[in-house]
Amino acid sequence: EHQLDALLKARRWQWTAIVLATLLLALLGALVVRQVVRMRRLNVLALTDALTGVANRRSIERFGAAAIARARASGEPLTALAFDIDHFKRVNDASGHVAGDRVLARVAQACQDALRQGDVLARIGGEEFLVLLPRTRLDQAVPIAERLRLAVSALNLSDLGGTLAVTISLGMAELRGEEDLEALVRRADHALYRAKDRGRDRVEVEA
Ligand code: GH3
Ligand code: MG
Ligand code: MG
Repeated sequence: EHQLDALLKARRWQWTAIVLATLLLALLGALVVRQVVRMRRLNVLALTDALTGVANRRSIERFGAAAIARARASGEPLTALAFDIDHFKRVNDASGHVAGDRVLARVAQACQDALRQGDVLARIGGEEFLVLLPRTRLDQAVPIAERLRLAVSALNLSDLGGTLAVTISLGMAELRGEEDLEALVRRADHALYRAKDRGRDRVEVEA
């Protein structure tokens, strides 16, 4: 009887140990899952522009490098579209920085909504944006640029104050030869300057 008692006691201890070990493993598992979720969230944050929720410069640079490599390997076209809000300083001066920030977010949202899946829109500077259109030739990208332009000029911003209205100027260029992202964006920017020069609220193409 004494031995049986000892055995039963040992068994109880075993069970206790098993239960405790299981609990510990479950706890560790939960901690790992939480850490992974946090890391993913941080990763998303690091690639997102906080004000507008679209991609940031780092994100589109990463995407662009991969998209250019893919385009080069497959022979498919790639078009870049640079745009900048017209006379944005006036928006800030007339309505304040807070309203200006809201306008930026609304412009980004309108453009995001006007783009196709697979296109990437990023805010790369204060009120400057870049769009990459994979598998898209220049002539196919022109209507897309026009769509963005019209989407912005049609924005209803009356809730942000008075007579607020904004337009954007766009410049575009198609990837050629051995060009890298920087060179492609430089050409799109060049067309953008021309759009500013020629009166704004318009699309210009870099031949
Ligand atoms: P243009 O048509 O030639 O582009 O004129 P512009 O006034 O838009 O151009 P400029 O580059 O001279 O001014 C851009 C202004 O955008 C200056 C700055 O006050 C404003 N801006 C830049 N970043 C932000 C931002 O994050 N929030 C707000 N509210 N304003 C910003
Ligand atoms: Mg501007
Ligand atoms: Mg600017």
